[in-house]
Amino acid sequence: MFATEAACQKYLAECRWPDGFVCLRCGNRSSYEIVKARRWQCAGCRYQVSLTAGTILHNTKTPLTVWFWAAYLMTTDKRGVSALLLQRQLGLRRYETAWMILHKLRQAMVNLAREPLRGEVEVDESWIGGTQAGLRGSRQLRGRKAALIVVAVEKRGRATGRARMAVIPDFRGGTLIAFLRQNVAPDSLVYTDALNSFAGLEEAGFRHVPGNQPSRADLHKGAKSAVPLADRAIGNLKQWLLGTHHGVGRDQLQAYLDEFVFRHNRRKQPMAAFQTLLGLGSGHKASTYKEMRGRRTLQTRPAKTDHNILRSAETTG
Ligand SMILES: [Zn+2]
Repeated sequence: MFATEAACQKYLAECRWPDGFVCLRCGNRSSYEIVKARRWQCAGCRYQVSLTAGTILHNTKTPLTVWFWAAYLMTTDKRGVSALLLQRQLGLRRYETAWMILHKLRQAMVNLAREPLRGEVEVDESWIGGTQAGLRGSRQLRGRKAALIVVAVEKRGRATGRARMAVIPDFRGGTLIAFLRQNVAPDSLVYTDALNSFAGLEEAGFRHVPGNQPSRADLHKGAKSAVPLADRAIGNLKQWLLGTHHGVGRDQLQAYLDEFVFRHNRRKQPMAAFQTLLGLGSGHKASTYKEMRGRRTLQTRPAKTDHNILRSAETTG
């Protein structure tokens, strides 16, 4: 679908004008493309509109086909993609180009308006980069590569719904509750292990189910975790960080958590994720791959109630 620059531009136009071109200035409906400039021009008054305005693609010198490939790989490949891999797969001359593209796509994932998790939610904390034996509290962090994270996932029966993850400075009660207030709707039923820091959850307005977490050795032997879904999410995260990126510095860790969560929360709507990533929010619901395969010309269907493509792009599973 996106084999050529012209095909990519056609797609941008379809995202911008799902019901066909309308000139903002004179209302004319006929237009012609100026592919070289990535613009469309009104056939009546010659008013020009940039196809990339308002998206992260604006003014890029990199071919759109490269951007589309990168966004596609980033949203559909569970492992995500490293700059080195992207450079090789797309045959880019410069590593820096691949790095810049991924960096910009990652930025597009941050600070999205997000609905809080709700219903039953599992919360767990973890180390990334390994604990330092013999050190306690802040001494573990000073000058070291390890980082602390907190993870919340919606429990939908045995399945995982949406997730949130954050790098945190410590495992104190105040820190964990601040994270929950930001990411979980009040009155949600929150499952945690028996960590003391979770003691204030009821007071903070959540319904709280603390469970006894078996030791790591017992977990390996098959003991039941108090928060199995959160544990699985943390395991998948660690595997991804090691496998795709061979470890990540503490400074960049939050950006990688955002990427992991972005893909996780949109895993059932990769096409919506793809559009969101390229900044193609059109106020219309994104088509699925299946819908797109079924017709050559993409037409997006208007959303019934939710006009926020970011929100509609997250699935609760
Ligand atoms: Zn016009």
